[in-house]
Amino acid sequence: MKSGPMEKPLTQHIVPGRKPLSLKEYEKVGGYQSVRKVLKEMTPQEVQTLVKDSNLRGRGGAGFNTGLKWSFVPMGPDAATPKYLVANADEMEPGTFKDRLLLEGNPQQLIEGMIVAAYAIQASISYVFLRWAYKVAAQEITQAIHEAYAAGYLGKNILGSGFDLEMHLHTGVGRYMCGEETALLNALEGKRANPRAKPPFPQVSGLFGKPTIVNNVETLCNLPHIINNGAEWFKKLGLTEDAGTKLYGVSGRVKTPGCWELPMGTTIREILEEHAGGMQDGYLFRGLLPGGASTDFLVEEHLDLPMDYPSIQAAGSRMGTGTMIILDDQTCPVGFTLNLQHFFAQESCGFCTPCREGLPWVEKILLAIDKGEGKPEHLLTLDFHTKYLGPGNTFCALAPGAMEPLQSALKYFREDFERHIHEHHCPWSKSKAWQPS
Ligand code: NAD
Repeated sequence: MKSGPMEKPLTQHIVPGRKPLSLKEYEKVGGYQSVRKVLKEMTPQEVQTLVKDSNLRGRGGAGFNTGLKWSFVPMGPDAATPKYLVANADEMEPGTFKDRLLLEGNPQQLIEGMIVAAYAIQASISYVFLRWAYKVAAQEITQAIHEAYAAGYLGKNILGSGFDLEMHLHTGVGRYMCGEETALLNALEGKRANPRAKPPFPQVSGLFGKPTIVNNVETLCNLPHIINNGAEWFKKLGLTEDAGTKLYGVSGRVKTPGCWELPMGTTIREILEEHAGGMQDGYLFRGLLPGGASTDFLVEEHLDLPMDYPSIQAAGSRMGTGTMIILDDQTCPVGFTLNLQHFFAQESCGFCTPCREGLPWVEKILLAIDKGEGKPEHLLTLDFHTKYLGPGNTFCALAPGAMEPLQSALKYFREDFERHIHEHHCPWSKSKAWQPS
């Protein structure tokens, strides 16, 4: 099925290269109506139920039902206070640049979504935890928060409702680990960004031990539209069983790399061929990582799949962030995989032994294979690592995520690994070979 037109996309007021809308301009096109609606007409419980019914799933990569996540937050007069809301804007998944578009393009929309989410869980303090490198976004969000305070959307007794909300911008230090929600909370507390054991989940014991919701930027930006238009409207935007729209991205040797808001469930082929313009002349498609680096490769046979959570999972991968990285026929799959493993080894927080020791070992073996110094038994060692560093054997999802592109590269491109070993060199041009930094 082809994607259809959308009435109210998340990206409707984002014009590339233009300053984002000011608060006044944003209000003129309907901005902050959802805040008025929830504060004046809805109870927090009603907001939670509406969002749960809309089937909005977390857009950070895991796809957990947003309203369901909120429902774990203790409510009522006996609930611990203060409660916190955190927008996870620490977008560091390789190949992922969708939240940047929203942060730089329409920060008022994020603030509006955060007020709705905070009201739903009755949080009184909120943070935008921003990737260090997003300097433009930092300026725009600072300005937007300032304007929202001045207009009475933030602070005490918002719009005379009795609801209070503080909002602060916190920039990270440029570590991938800070995007993991519990490591992020440690970082916000001023501690080293190690992950915490779950349970307890942050919804019950999060920032400073208090109930906390961490939601991705894209997830939060959907909320004003769901409140204004309803759960059924949102569900119908999706082409398959997953609801809403999705910011899909494509990078690699395609004609027009970029990011597009499309109905959830648009096929990979449509995204790749119609929106990204197909492969550049002289390059053939070999495979893709559907949602950033921590997902399994998909290949030609998967191109007609809808990009939604269940379809991509059924094919043995994950939709993750929905931003694809394309592998072409003139890029060495070993060097490509080595590049990713170098990133993951460098970004391991070192807290648990399998990840701290295993990822550099994987990188070392891949480097040897890439240089033509690999041995046949190296492939078995890599196979072993994909299990040993897989789910359940490490403290958080970093190493299992790193093993996803490796295990699928060994499955789909194994003969390329074997050629490096048997021919004692990289069959691709050495001038293009990847070098560790
Ligand atoms: P997860 O599945 O453990 O959790 C997802 C969310 O659901 C969390 O907020 C968690 O608290 C909640 N949750 C899960 N199970 C729960 C339960 N039983 N009870 C209550 N709440 C529960 O995933 P994760 O480790 O938070 O995230 C991994 C994902 O992050 C990967 O899919 C990866 O693609 C993605 N990722 C994204 C980026 C980025 O830049 N956007 C960076 C790194 C990783």
